[in-house]
Amino acid sequence: MKQGGVHKKLLEIDLTRSTVHTRRIKDRLLKDYIGGRALATRIFFDAVNPSCDPLSPENIVVIAASPLTGTTAPTAARGHMVFKSPLTGMIGSSNCGGSWAYYLKSAGYDIILIKGRSQKPALIDIKPESVKIGSAENIWGLNVHKTTDILTRKKKRARILCIGQAGENCVRFSSVMNDKNRAYGRGGPGAVFGSKHLKAIRVQGDKKTDIKKEEAFRAGKEQAEYIMKAAPITKRLLKELGTAGLIKLINLMEMLPHKNFQDNVHQDKDINEVSGEKIKKDLLKRPGACFGCPIACQRHTSVDGKTGEGPEYETLVMLGPQCGIYDLKSITKANYLCNELGLDSISMGGTTACVMELFEKGIINKQDTDGIPFLFGRSDMLEETIRRTAFREGIGDRISEGSYRFAELFHNPSYSMSVKKMEIPAYDPRSSFTQGLGYMTSPTGACHLRGGYAVSLAFFGGAKEIPRFSLLQSPIAIRNMQNLGIIQDSLGICRFTGFAFSTEPWSRMLSGVTGYEYSSGEFVQMAGRVAALERVFNLRAGLTYPDDSLPPRFSSQPITVQGQKTTLSQKAQSKMREDYYKARGWSVPEGIPSKKILESIELEEI
Ligand code: SF4
Repeated sequence: MKQGGVHKKLLEIDLTRSTVHTRRIKDRLLKDYIGGRALATRIFFDAVNPSCDPLSPENIVVIAASPLTGTTAPTAARGHMVFKSPLTGMIGSSNCGGSWAYYLKSAGYDIILIKGRSQKPALIDIKPESVKIGSAENIWGLNVHKTTDILTRKKKRARILCIGQAGENCVRFSSVMNDKNRAYGRGGPGAVFGSKHLKAIRVQGDKKTDIKKEEAFRAGKEQAEYIMKAAPITKRLLKELGTAGLIKLINLMEMLPHKNFQDNVHQDKDINEVSGEKIKKDLLKRPGACFGCPIACQRHTSVDGKTGEGPEYETLVMLGPQCGIYDLKSITKANYLCNELGLDSISMGGTTACVMELFEKGIINKQDTDGIPFLFGRSDMLEETIRRTAFREGIGDRISEGSYRFAELFHNPSYSMSVKKMEIPAYDPRSSFTQGLGYMTSPTGACHLRGGYAVSLAFFGGAKEIPRFSLLQSPIAIRNMQNLGIIQDSLGICRFTGFAFSTEPWSRMLSGVTGYEYSSGEFVQMAGRVAALERVFNLRAGLTYPDDSLPPRFSSQPITVQGQKTTLSQKAQSKMREDYYKARGWSVPEGIPSKKILESIELEEI
């Protein structure tokens, strides 16, 4: 039977040679790797040299949609991008909402592979009838919003993926943006685009995604929608307050970081100033949604005559309390600027907080910071710092390398709150060991999403809830959560659906669309394969097991949680790491996938 849901077409673009090829994707590959993250990871793994310089023409970018993309499956318009990260030197793996992936499918392709480097700024233009590599010289130097406006002028049904000035200047944590404000944010994909002189990819088309068994698809879809309408987080919190609605809850759990993770102490009145409720009252214009999403967590906001999106929870905390700042207007304007220039706001906030602490401790002074007083709480310097970072001006040039390289330059890398040189997001690992283990073992560095999004388990897990400090249960829990994340990223669906349900409705929908029977067990098998590929890539790129650790602060400097002084000790980290490796079938202490496990997931050839 012909598989539904896919065009079976991979578009290969070589920017050095200025050539375009269409390849047919093998049925077996599509069956085993479905789409999105899994398919992109496999194709990337087979095509790239793990020891390549991430900013060289040798690096490869793979962007994939899923068989559900293009159907009415809820939230299923997300794309996934895989590349070698210039921030971590490891695999980069980033997921994005919006609508671009939907239009890629409409143009007749499931996946794109981009390699080489164009001599001049390039625009890739993809339509069903043609694919062209054109000049982007007229838009090089423009921000994300202007670029998008120019490229969609008189082309209402076109969608744009592009970089801003931060990507052009190869800032190591620059993002690739979609629909202006949706980001492939973490790990510096923008810098990889910039290094290839690739400014934008425009997609348009009208091709339909066929569904093999309409009834089975509809049954899974109705099941998903029914549960989402009943679950408190998807039904109410995200819809009414957006992700910023989480801030009070995370603070109540004593998990909200403060001043570069120095403590977790905030005044209630300060938290109220940056809460989802405050955004709703003072800034909200209207909610919004990614293509086909009934949850609608986006916030369209305005401040002092400017309009934009957000801030989201992570941005709010990282540019806010992490920097000792509780001024909502300043944080919102800083967030707008990150989107316009194409910067990952998590790493931007984490690096700014690191510089502030180095300044506070007297390790750097005004001579090192272009005269800017990098003091915690100084919201007036946020926008200028972001601008200098994107353009690599003065201190911005050093900030653009990320917190680890910045602190290392001043002989104090321990002030960088990062794992594998990627800044830790807005949940303190001392308040949830499961979350800490997720940061440690995420293949992409400290990413809450690729790391397993343990907060959703710790707080909203219902029957699956596990104690936050369980050394015993955390390794299995985080392996399972990471597997679920791989499945969600491969189906092209939003992580927030996990607040309502796990995999069953998706397996029904996918079986309906493709015509193949997919069980939850097959999903887990696929997730194990992807985790092994990511691990082997990283090992070949130079990863060793001590890289799967938290910065020293988290084992040496306690915070108070539930009335007790708490750290996540080195011993506890080793124990959890080793148990996690065992749960994956990897060797201890090195974390190398064993021959036996590779055979069991049909990856013996790697
Ligand atoms: S829940 Fe939010 S981020 Fe997820 S798909 Fe919907 S609008 Fe996009």
